[in-house]
Amino acid sequence: LGGSISRALAQMSNATVIDEKVLNECLNEISRALLQADVQFKMVRDMQANIKRIVNLEALAAGTNKRRIMQQAVFTELCTMLDPGKPSFTPKKGKPSVVMFVGLQGSGKTTTCTKYAYYHQKKGFKPALVCADTFRAGAFDQLKQNATKAKIPFYGSYMESDPVKIAVEGVERFKKENCDLIIVDTSGRHKQEAALFEEMRQVSEATKPDLVIFVMDSSIGQAAFDQAQAFKQSVSVGAVIITKMDGHAKGGGALSAVAATKSPVIFIGTGEHIDEFEVFDVKPFVSRLLGMGDWAGFMDKIHEVVPTDQQPELLQKLSEGSFTLRLMYEQFQNILKMGPIGQVFSMLPGFSAELMPKGHEKESQAKIKRYMTMMDSMTDAGMSSTCWKSISGLLKSGAR
Ligand code: GDP
Ligand code: MG
Repeated sequence: LGGSISRALAQMSNATVIDEKVLNECLNEISRALLQADVQFKMVRDMQANIKRIVNLEALAAGTNKRRIMQQAVFTELCTMLDPGKPSFTPKKGKPSVVMFVGLQGSGKTTTCTKYAYYHQKKGFKPALVCADTFRAGAFDQLKQNATKAKIPFYGSYMESDPVKIAVEGVERFKKENCDLIIVDTSGRHKQEAALFEEMRQVSEATKPDLVIFVMDSSIGQAAFDQAQAFKQSVSVGAVIITKMDGHAKGGGALSAVAATKSPVIFIGTGEHIDEFEVFDVKPFVSRLLGMGDWAGFMDKIHEVVPTDQQPELLQKLSEGSFTLRLMYEQFQNILKMGPIGQVFSMLPGFSAELMPKGHEKESQAKIKRYMTMMDSMTDAGMSSTCWKSISGLLKSGAR
């Protein structure tokens, strides 16, 4: 997505005359990229109209940085689309809250329930898990295993077949035990949607959750909107969690889920492991979606690891775009200290997470050391070249 949008913007930027036709071509190209990233057709069409309204053709024609103006417009528009305008319910320590998870089978509910519980446990909450999935054989065992590993109390049954009864029993028990975050995992049976939605309605009515979280697999593509809307119509969804963001999905479904549920995305799942779970933040998400890089996050990291006396020079070079390979070389030494190297690199424009896959930090570090060796053999002129492309090109050639 980032690639095709950058290309569209570059084409427009190179055009000598900016007229209606050039703008439309650029917008069409961006729209195609968004559709490919699973953003719903109607939303793409609305966005196109909004951008045309926001971007003033004359200003664009006169503007020195057309690419930046358009990029900013797309960026702002996508951020707006991801902001439903009201925050979701957030649990408070010491006050019993019930949070119910809903979503289709395989979307990642059970895994995400545990991640959510674990995340709050680390923040000082006393969470508990209730397994109200009586439909799938093995559902309770899975939750039990997850919960045991994370040392989180759980409730469920191998015998009872009534999900409402179990949900109510579990919630009551954990309220008595003074748990302040009671999480109800539910069934997501396939091909029996009417029965599923009725079941969700009943569990919700019986347990009166403070928050219903809709869990969505990021790879479901264009189906995201309808699926989210169907759940919203049976229970009052108040937040969304998108799972499997570590896969190939582009994440455009997040926009659909927000539009359909009128609720914010609060976390994303980035792996099967319990701590592969991130608080969702709109701006960095959109930046990365557009391939713009997460500059704010990157700058924070720079401030963290680059020695103070070197910061002004580095920041100036970065801002004027004269960040050379030589500077990169110098900074590689600092970057190696920056911790999970994949995360740092995915913050930079032009770098995709695929280049530095998660869980391969050791290999990535070894790679960086190799690049430094390659740089050692480069000419002075090469080391003074400035653009990001040469750096990401270097990384790509080393990564394949
Ligand atoms: P449920 O049927 O909705 O309860 O889904 P599960 O929690 O059982 O998850 C289905 C599968 O997706 C399991 O194999 C999980 O390990 C996997 N899964 C869940 N979340 C993620 C994620 O964020 N990334 C990856 N890669 N796998 C995930
Ligand atoms: Mg499950």
